[in-house]
Amino acid sequence: MLKVRSFDKCVFELSKLPGIGKKTAQRLAMYIMKMSESEVKELSESLVNLKKNIKYCRECGGLSDSDICSICSDESRDREVVCVVEEPKDIFIIEASGRFKGVYHVLGGKIAPLDGIGPDELNLKRLVNLVAEGKVNEVIIATNPDVEGETTATYIYKLLKDFDVKTTRIASGVPTGGLLEFSDDLTILKAIENRRQMQ
Ligand SMILES: [Zn+2]
Repeated sequence: MLKVRSFDKCVFELSKLPGIGKKTAQRLAMYIMKMSESEVKELSESLVNLKKNIKYCRECGGLSDSDICSICSDESRDREVVCVVEEPKDIFIIEASGRFKGVYHVLGGKIAPLDGIGPDELNLKRLVNLVAEGKVNEVIIATNPDVEGETTATYIYKLLKDFDVKTTRIASGVPTGGLLEFSDDLTILKAIENRRQMQ
């Protein structure tokens, strides 16, 4: 069997990524070999910089190059509508649909008793504070439509119920049990447009 150490190492590292099996990793490694040296350098530097420079936005908890992310610092975004998501990556997915003009709040997970994650492990304080200050008209809960995501949505609804705020839940155009990240832009768009008031 042919062994080429640097090739095998590259395949090994690539196959650690989600959704990349050995065959795909080999194909990617082959492709990288054909790229120019400067392109490979750009790629590897972008990976290192991704890890080194990315921060969490002090306001929403999303990913950012600076202390406050580009969405939170954008004056044209509607601060009265807050979309609650589980993880920073969910912001990319909703932004890709291109229609949401409000701001975000990242929970940093979802209530999952079996994994030992309760409400105290989530970032709920900022959300409650925003609502309590009367700065928010609508909270759209966009946690995933699986059991933990629904539990989290219900928990947040109860938490906010006594405040003067409309709490909505994205429509289940996102297939039940399916993850936000596997839904296409149109499904996400419909899920937001057809959101329903929680009660
Ligand atoms: Zn932000």
